[in-house]
Amino acid sequence: MKCDVLNTPFTNCPHADFVDKAVRAAFAESLEKLKGSLPLKVPVVVSGQKRFEGRTRPRYCPSQKDWQVAAVTLATQEDVDRALAAAARAWGEWRDLPVEERALLLDKLADRIQADRFDLAALQTLEVGKPWREADADVTEAIDFCRYYARRALVELAPRPQGNVWGERNTLWYEGRGVAAIIAPWNFPLAILTGMATAALVAGNAVLIKPAGQSSAIGYGLYERMIEVGFPPDVVHFIPGPGSEIGDYIVEHPLIAMIAFTGSKEVGLSLIRKAGNTKPGQAQVKKVVCEMGGKNAIIIDDDADLDEAVAGVMKSAFGYAGQKCSACSRVITVGQVHEPFVKRLIEACRSLHIAPAHDPACQLGPVIDEGAYQRLNGVIANPGDGATPLYIGTPPSDDGFFVAPALFAVQDPRHRLMQEELFGPILAIYQAKNFDEALEVAVSTEFALTGGVFSRSPSHLEAAKKRFRVGNLYLNRGCTGAMVDRQPFGGFGMSGIGTKAGGPFYLLSFADPRCVTENTMRHGFTPDIPPEA
Ligand code: NAD
Repeated sequence: MKCDVLNTPFTNCPHADFVDKAVRAAFAESLEKLKGSLPLKVPVVVSGQKRFEGRTRPRYCPSQKDWQVAAVTLATQEDVDRALAAAARAWGEWRDLPVEERALLLDKLADRIQADRFDLAALQTLEVGKPWREADADVTEAIDFCRYYARRALVELAPRPQGNVWGERNTLWYEGRGVAAIIAPWNFPLAILTGMATAALVAGNAVLIKPAGQSSAIGYGLYERMIEVGFPPDVVHFIPGPGSEIGDYIVEHPLIAMIAFTGSKEVGLSLIRKAGNTKPGQAQVKKVVCEMGGKNAIIIDDDADLDEAVAGVMKSAFGYAGQKCSACSRVITVGQVHEPFVKRLIEACRSLHIAPAHDPACQLGPVIDEGAYQRLNGVIANPGDGATPLYIGTPPSDDGFFVAPALFAVQDPRHRLMQEELFGPILAIYQAKNFDEALEVAVSTEFALTGGVFSRSPSHLEAAKKRFRVGNLYLNRGCTGAMVDRQPFGGFGMSGIGTKAGGPFYLLSFADPRCVTENTMRHGFTPDIPPEA
């Protein structure tokens, strides 16, 4: 098998340089082309057969409510049955391919996504209201997942000798478990879906891809490119539809061997419960890879560089309108830094340009949909006793689901603004007496996903490394924007079961280990006897 391309070191795909006029023009061209083709029709695809008929659901642009971006066909239980039966039949052959063959397909997929990177990013600006830079970063992350997992597969999954004893040969390898359900959120609509699906596939599983309802057109963009580069249609099936309608059916189906889920704590925990119920005809215990929410804090120490701290908090709290699992939703100031920090943060909030995500000048776009818009406005209007508004911004229009930044001072670490994942541009600010208390408050939620510290004290940074126990801790920088390989991403506590996407050993969660031991001290061989003899 020729796979020289995979013997090159992994490097991250650079983000687009929008300072370059030609790059801006290319992105704008993709956007215009896309606008001319709306609404996109998103089918259910089982074994390569597309179905556009039946129930569909419209998806509207969060920045401009009257633009229909897509008409999404909704999968039925019958679609799921057919897809699972075909996937279960195709799985064995796929599993038994040399791992290099599957890894090469991932690399080809990366090339294919890269060739269309602005088309896929432009679609994100319209379908999920992601501003240009962040949409581009989501696409480059998808490319990175493909290239990274392709290379890691050769190291982690391929057969390797174990032990070193005369007369015995031991071989350990990892192989696919069966059919995996890939259940993804809308907030990193291409990257997370691509990451979970390619990890499952390269490990030798067949997959049912179930994108989030809000980002099904982007999910279909991925599916189409997978088939174009050569993933077998019986191994990859595309099953869009509301999680509440077909999600449980997929998860509880006896032909599902594992579930790769990223989304909210509520849904994640319910999937873990359901996956634990063994049904008649089920061949194995279902494994669940589960990444959930966060309530992430940044500590501003009393000696922090405020130029950096304010910029870091703004990016972490209001990037993609606070709709990142890694987003900063709590700031903990230490002592006297509180007042100057808050003053500067408010000024920074005032200067944020809130605009439609497809506008290149947009710094803060809309939230995902009407439900999120109503819920977040409800919290801003009624944050609960003990929350003092420090700044409430004004949304530019009601053409889209715009929610302006809202800052609240909170004195009780148990306050709901300090505990609940709100998933929007709402920030709670707590003033701690000293760094020790700040650390205690930082880890006082059930989540443990990301966190940050701005400090110039080496001893405080060391203390944070030990006591600020989260999956991804960032010192003297913002707490979002993990890069594949450089910051393996994922949390623990109620944020996840401890896997690290884009990091070493992630692929092992998608495979079963096998070890074969052969006694090589045998005396002579039995020649192969032809069957007719
Ligand atoms: P969600 O939990 O509502 O939905 C996630 C996916 O689950 C969607 O595809 C949805 O259709 C599906 N789903 C819903 N109900 C289901 C059911 N009963 N059975 C099966 N599937 C079902 O989450 P969301 O709103 O799409 O995403 C936001 C959440 O995701 C936030 O909590 C965020 O923190 C989290 N998130 C976590 C990470 C991480 O790496 N830890 C990354 C991104 C997002």
